[in-house]
Amino acid sequence: MSESSDVRNVIIIGSGPAGLTAAIYTARANLEPLLIEGELSSTSDQPGGQLMLTTEVENFPGWPDGIMGPELMGRFREQALRFGTEVLTNKVSRVDLSSSPFGVWIGDPTAPEPTHRAKSVIVSTGAQSLMLGLPEEARLLGHGLSTCATCDGFFFRDHDIAVVGGGDSALEEALFLTKFAKTVTIIHRRDELRASKIMQDRAFANEKIRFEWNSGVSAIHGEQTVSGMTLVDTITGVERELPVTGIFVAIGHRPNTDLFVGQLDLEDNGYLLTHAGSHTNVEGVFACGDVQDHVYRQAITAAGSGCMAAIDAERWLESQGGH
Ligand code: NAP
Repeated sequence: MSESSDVRNVIIIGSGPAGLTAAIYTARANLEPLLIEGELSSTSDQPGGQLMLTTEVENFPGWPDGIMGPELMGRFREQALRFGTEVLTNKVSRVDLSSSPFGVWIGDPTAPEPTHRAKSVIVSTGAQSLMLGLPEEARLLGHGLSTCATCDGFFFRDHDIAVVGGGDSALEEALFLTKFAKTVTIIHRRDELRASKIMQDRAFANEKIRFEWNSGVSAIHGEQTVSGMTLVDTITGVERELPVTGIFVAIGHRPNTDLFVGQLDLEDNGYLLTHAGSHTNVEGVFACGDVQDHVYRQAITAAGSGCMAAIDAERWLESQGGH
């Protein structure tokens, strides 16, 4: 049988904690999953997901002494392979979810025939934190620069920290960080916050939080770890230094949904809409992890939802007459 006529039970798209957990479960259920993990071709495509961009992970249960993010994802992958997951290091260029079996293209998206077909698809393409676009960000991410206070706040006990952004995320991160930090400076590009009134009231009432209004970030400093940043007044253009040893960027997230727009229902904020666990609006297509979760965004919750998607897919395949 040629590759294109070989219909899989399940194809998993994306290889963060959600996708790899879905792979472990579907492989152990003898569904012989194909996991398409992406390829490191751009900042938007990160095999292994966002944990590949972090350093130490201390809150993943089962690792009492902590584990480095890339090592943790390597172990997820090893476990998925152990049970027979086939892993393709490639980027999906197109999907056709209009009828079953579903089509998945790798390479030329205009090719008439899909590269792979499957009875069910699990979408676990994740999300990306929006970044400021400064050249130092890639080097210092995980070294004093972070996009997740829940993950990394603990490492900044008694530090002077900056949080960039003026929305609910920025204020939530800032309030959380006051548990550890000496001071938290919120850097916002306007003189008015976007965040909800209640979050604003909490932030204004917190003695550890101060604000730098009308401020952009023009540079982040530090060799091994963050040592400060340069702010630029968005009205006068005048630059000034802010000596901080931790910077949290909280200017929003973007779910990786480009492949699915027009085929799967999205929430108003662009995340994939799921119901009854991991079901999407298309029968046989399931979604898990950060591509459908704008609330918790943790590796452990992504892994949990990957397990849910695998069980949902298995039950759905069973309801269609088995596999
Ligand atoms: P958001 O509401 O889109 O806010 C993003 C913030 O970052 C804005 O203040 C924006 O400035 C700023 N920003 C964007 N790009 C920037 C750039 N390049 N440089 C500097 N600043 C930049 O995103 P969010 O805070 O992540 O919230 C997303 C959604 O989740 C919202 O609906 C929010 O209410 C919700 N949420 C709720 C809670 C909660 O209720 N506890 C917690 C977190 C998130 P401008 O204001 O000038 O555009």
